[in-house]
Amino acid sequence: MERLNSHLKIAETCHSVRQNLIFVAQFKKMSDDLYNNEVAFELQPKVIDETRQGEAMITARPQSVKANGKKFYIESYGCQMNFADSEVVASILNSAGFDATTEFIDADLILINTCAIRENAEQRIRHRLQHFRGVKKRKKGALVGVLGCMAERLKEQFLEQEKIVDIVAGPDTYRYLPDLIAEAGSGQKAVNVLLSREETYAEINPVRLNSNGITAFISIMRGCDNMCAFCVVPFTRGRERSRDWQTIVAEAKELYEQGYREVTLLGQNVDSYRYSEDPTLVGKKLLEAKYDPGVVNFAGLMEKVALIAPDLRVRFSTSHPKDMTDDVLHMMAKYPNICKYVHLPVQSGNSRILEMMNRTYDREWYIQRIEAIRRIVPDAAISTDIISGFCSETEEEHKDTLSMMEYVKYSMAYMFVYSERPGTVAAKKYKDDVPEDVKKRRLQEIVDIHRLHALELNKEDVGKEFEVLIEGVSARNDMELYGRNTQNKVIVFPKGDLKPGTYANVRVTSCTSGTLIGTVIQ
Ligand code: SAM
Ligand code: SF4
Repeated sequence: MERLNSHLKIAETCHSVRQNLIFVAQFKKMSDDLYNNEVAFELQPKVIDETRQGEAMITARPQSVKANGKKFYIESYGCQMNFADSEVVASILNSAGFDATTEFIDADLILINTCAIRENAEQRIRHRLQHFRGVKKRKKGALVGVLGCMAERLKEQFLEQEKIVDIVAGPDTYRYLPDLIAEAGSGQKAVNVLLSREETYAEINPVRLNSNGITAFISIMRGCDNMCAFCVVPFTRGRERSRDWQTIVAEAKELYEQGYREVTLLGQNVDSYRYSEDPTLVGKKLLEAKYDPGVVNFAGLMEKVALIAPDLRVRFSTSHPKDMTDDVLHMMAKYPNICKYVHLPVQSGNSRILEMMNRTYDREWYIQRIEAIRRIVPDAAISTDIISGFCSETEEEHKDTLSMMEYVKYSMAYMFVYSERPGTVAAKKYKDDVPEDVKKRRLQEIVDIHRLHALELNKEDVGKEFEVLIEGVSARNDMELYGRNTQNKVIVFPKGDLKPGTYANVRVTSCTSGTLIGTVIQ
């Protein structure tokens, strides 16, 4: 019970999104209250990262930049891309002379980088904004800015709905933040939500001072051109665009030189990454020129990053089943430092629902992609995202999702109840007609099956040996370290004289559904 309470506490402190409520596998019973409709069930203590929801970020102003005497505070919600964006924002503000603080009560500028993916995520942000009222009362001139997807979705409306807000800045406008801050400082409300077809913040070096110094995210593209019927991202993050590969490789190299040993290449649909230095090759022309030797695709980009150093691990997220090519899988197989782990969101196991979702693949196609992974990268772990109770989903169709889970046996899954988002294709075309209690019950069934699979897969790992990148000291026992194997599974083992940021060979001796437990092999 004590442990349950402590996990509940962790969950309470996590404010939002995809990982809206973090569930740790050791829970015996999963209460609906805990899930609050948006279960992110994560069976790996990777939850350590996921508890970053609402995390404040501390950064350092470059010494060459004169301080302007003002402090900013930034907290972030949502997906990894949002956290990576906050690092870009921090870099822009540092360069404009702002210093960072992790205490919002000390700040002259409070920024909240928001998520709009589900209604719950937005409610949390609104609730959080109320906490900043006191600062504005106490500190004359203190400003509150809302960044990210919710800012983009609500635009000026945000200022009307939440009087506390002074600045609204969409994801493509962070370069203009210093101007927006000046505008708001002069008493006007400042809004910029223009979406761009070009902005990738390519040359801005994100600041990462509050990271673990071992693993980092690199945004390789922005936006999304897919129009999944349930999803607000194409409206809040704009058209898809790929970042110049040279700046990506330079960023990864610099991270490696600073001691980082793992980079995760981030995009909403990494498989459609495509960059050409030829400025005439844009849009459709770039798509058509995909076999042009001057065009770097995702497989090519992965190879360039993998070649930086054999002990720099490369991960990526997210893969789209319609776009994940065998080329990418062959590249994974070719380089031992490209991690054997694919996050391949299925959303539903039923072809009619997938069509309504506009995912542009069906059940058979998805299965065929799973087969390709198993054939080309047989040791790869596969994880997923699942939505329960999408518009008109029947009991039989829900069972197709369960049977897909049985077929794949995902090592990790983010599982959500469908939440209608204004402006999306589904909101316009379909009725959100699956009752809430049915959605929740189906979600519970999905979660229960997933938990069984995770335990089953972990049991299969007992007795095996893995190379582990050590990420830190275990939160439960400071005599133990934890790290991940290439399949992204967390392994805990006795510390000995090993250090975070190095590799160890570990033999798994036992497991829970959430963690592998092992001993180091000399
Ligand atoms: N680009 C990724 C892809 O295509 O899989 C996913 C990006 S989205 C930020 C993360 C996940 O949130 C989705 O995979 C989906 O499972 C979930 N999601 C998005 N919109 C949702 C909605 N309206 N209701 C419930 N879950 C949603
Ligand atoms: Fe949303 Fe679909 Fe784009 Fe993913 S691929 S961000 S789910 S529209």
